Amino acid sequence: MSADELLDLGLAESIVPEAIGRPGERKFKITVISHRGSATIWMEKEQLFQVAAALKQFLSSRSAISNATNYVSRSGDPPSVISEEFRAGDMSLSHDARSDVFTVAVTDIESEHEGDDEEDAVAMQFSFTRVSADKIADVALQVVAAGRKPCPLCSVPQDPKGHFCVRKNGRRNAHSDEV
Ligand SMILES: [Zn+2]
Repeated sequence: MSADELLDLGLAESIVPEAIGRPGERKFKITVISHRGSATIWMEKEQLFQVAAALKQFLSSRSAISNATNYVSRSGDPPSVISEEFRAGDMSLSHDARSDVFTVAVTDIESEHEGDDEEDAVAMQFSFTRVSADKIADVALQVVAAGRKPCPLCSVPQDPKGHFCVRKNGRRNAHSDEV
């Protein structure tokens, strides 16, 4: 996959964050399935956490759009069915205010090391609705936390290294000070 090639899965039918392996050796991935194909995106635990935290923060700070239009992908259907598996480099989240649809863009970590002229290094993107966003964030946080205690303020599982609490303006270590 080259860096200037954007694979757009469009509106996904299924987005599943998971952890594979034993505690301490877990690897993290998101599996995305849409009518355009599928992708398995491996990532660091911190990346999965950041996506979930960004979604939660967005959802808590902005209310749903009542007259949302249907989401239309900017790219046309790909010439062939997408089937990709790669490790995530940069990940970014965007929101389309008209359709109330979220899009996650992910670069392939291997493509980042090759090019020097790639300002548009997006490798793949997938989109999902607000309802899906909340579920994805919940599952992702549970996967990352693996049974850790939920925060009493926001019910997000707390990381021992510090908790990104949307109810406390996202300050890290907000709760560990209070223990
Ligand atoms: Zn919290």
